[in-house]
Amino acid sequence: MTTHNVTLIPGDGTGPEISAAVQKVLEATGVKIAWEVVEAGADVVEKYGTPLPDNVLASIRKNKVALKGPLTTPIGTGFRSVNVALRKELDLYACLRPCKSYKGVRSRYQNIDLVVVRENTEDLYAGVEYAAGSKEATEIIGWAKGKIFPDAAISIKPISRTGAERIARFAFDYAVAHKRRKVTAVTKANIMKYTDGLFFEVSREVAKQYPGIEYEERLIDNMCMQLVQKPELYDVILLPNLYGDILSDLCAGLIGGLGIAPGANHGKDIALFEAVHGSAPKYKGMNKVNPTAVLLSGVLMLEHLGEKAAAQKLEAAIAVVIAEGRDVTYDLKPRPDDPTAAGTREMGEAIIRKLRG
Ligand code: NAD
Repeated sequence: MTTHNVTLIPGDGTGPEISAAVQKVLEATGVKIAWEVVEAGADVVEKYGTPLPDNVLASIRKNKVALKGPLTTPIGTGFRSVNVALRKELDLYACLRPCKSYKGVRSRYQNIDLVVVRENTEDLYAGVEYAAGSKEATEIIGWAKGKIFPDAAISIKPISRTGAERIARFAFDYAVAHKRRKVTAVTKANIMKYTDGLFFEVSREVAKQYPGIEYEERLIDNMCMQLVQKPELYDVILLPNLYGDILSDLCAGLIGGLGIAPGANHGKDIALFEAVHGSAPKYKGMNKVNPTAVLLSGVLMLEHLGEKAAAQKLEAAIAVVIAEGRDVTYDLKPRPDDPTAAGTREMGEAIIRKLRG
């Protein structure tokens, strides 16, 4: 049996407790994984002087596959997002977020089966931002000839043909490989004619090379309403970075919350798997939050490693525990203050029992 070398970044906030539970469950699948555990995030700044030490990137570059717990990003001040830095440094240009209903999860919707494909490296996330009053901001305001207040801070939104083409191709290749019927590209191209307009133009060109997959376009505002009213109309959804980020949470809401929404970031030959949710710091150390989103990211990782049978078995075990509704965390109980809610660790142990059957 092959042993897979995988980098594990436990994360911060509730990340370490989730990752510990997930590591045990993945071990119980019988797949041989040699974990290389490396630290990143807010909790290691004091130790390493940076939230993203060099050995983290080196480990992922070597192993080519990583599983990551959530990492905190301070708002407004402090360091930039380590999550964004990892995606940029490793050129993980495609963010894949399947949103699927599981029986037993309370939600306003049933039978949701959507896949969000989000561009991960460009757009307003490129990190090209200038403070109000800075030399750069003042220069750009000059070019804009009266369209921008002189005291504005500026964020630049780059969308390139290169970036749009590789993410559109990823979405269509995914649709073909997973037998999906349709790709819907989403932007605000009526307002941002050059940037979002280019994203549509390139997606349309790529679509022509996949005649077996239906292609359509929607504007982001309309798409938000459509997804809330008629989610069954959609299948694979292709978006630039910022809209993709926002719509991912909307789609997570459709399936019953962030606790069960997994994700994967793919580059040319590196893949990093992580939940959609963040570090939920208010629950840190309480053994309280749901490990499912990271576990389902683990299912995506097992598929990527070619361990399809183990991936299916694990997903089925998770689905049974959720459907039974007994050994589940607070967010999957009828009321969040339900005294019978399982902890992170206990929910993991229940899934292990199902795996062992
Ligand atoms: P969050 O996703 O951490 O939490 C928002 C709320 O969602 C929580 O208070 C909780 O009620 C619920 N929730 C989240 N995860 C859950 C889980 N596993 N089980 C049950 N309930 C869960 O979002 P936030 O509070 O906006 O962000 C906290 C920090 O995480 C921020 O610093 C943010 O930048 C960071 N973040 C990191 C990632 C990542 O690591 N990829 C993603 C999003 C946010």
